[in-house]
Amino acid sequence: MRVDVVSIFPEYLAPLELSLIGKARQDGLLELSVHDLRDFTTDRHRTVDDTPYGGGAGMVMKPEPWAQALAAVAADRPGDAAKPVLIVPSPAGERFTQATAHELAGEERLVFACGRYEGIDERVMEWAAGHFTVRPMSLGDYVLNGGEVAVLAMVEAIGRLLPGVVGNPESLVEESHSDGLLEYPVYTKPSSWRDREVPAVLLSGNHGKIAQWRRHEQYRRTAERRPDLLEQFDAAKLPRADRTAFADLGYDIVDGHLMRRADAGGDSA
Ligand code: SAM
Repeated sequence: MRVDVVSIFPEYLAPLELSLIGKARQDGLLELSVHDLRDFTTDRHRTVDDTPYGGGAGMVMKPEPWAQALAAVAADRPGDAAKPVLIVPSPAGERFTQATAHELAGEERLVFACGRYEGIDERVMEWAAGHFTVRPMSLGDYVLNGGEVAVLAMVEAIGRLLPGVVGNPESLVEESHSDGLLEYPVYTKPSSWRDREVPAVLLSGNHGKIAQWRRHEQYRRTAERRPDLLEQFDAAKLPRADRTAFADLGYDIVDGHLMRRADAGGDSA
């Protein structure tokens, strides 16, 4: 996969040289270039922002430096290649999820446009649609100072799904959000630590029981912490023992969907 990032703070992206993503780059699994938006300005002060039409607080990123930068990135590809995906981090974008990460990990080329100030002049997105598949994308329902932190998170989430990046691909299958649930709790040695014991089933060597305990812990944790995820969960194919586990958590299964019983206790209603 090839990734290009355009930012007025290229040094902000330095962590992408570290750890698994840095190694993926060294191993040629991920080709990543960072471009300074100010290199595409034409004035002495390398200006990238101006006051907003209509008034109001803050500054807006000027369209022309963005068009120059994105056109240069778009031009740098073989003639027969598909349009790259342009991801524009924005709190007003679609939510970036693990499903989005999987989808984007299948792309050959991603370009990220890091906004700052009050964001990028909206006409850039209209213009860019001629060269890219444009996807405004939000990390979550809060406001950051710039797109760089969002890009660090998205590139890491996408990059670790590329074949060969994570040593044991099994670890990707069992993770939180990979099947619409949170991951079960994990433990390591020693089995007894500060008067706290590892759950006995994990020391039993009974792989069937361990797998069942882990699934049930996923259900319990998701019901406690993220009951919203259970609304989307496909419960139709659950084995009988797992249906009982959900019943104990206060859920009925109606038409393949989990429904929290009105009389169920706890905080997750
Ligand atoms: N005025 C914008 C709004 O209310 O939608 C917020 C601008 S924010 C201060 C500056 C930049 O940070 C945005 O252009 C975007 O690139 C990035 N950003 C802020 N919050 C984000 C989020 N939740 N997800 C992705 N990017 C975000």
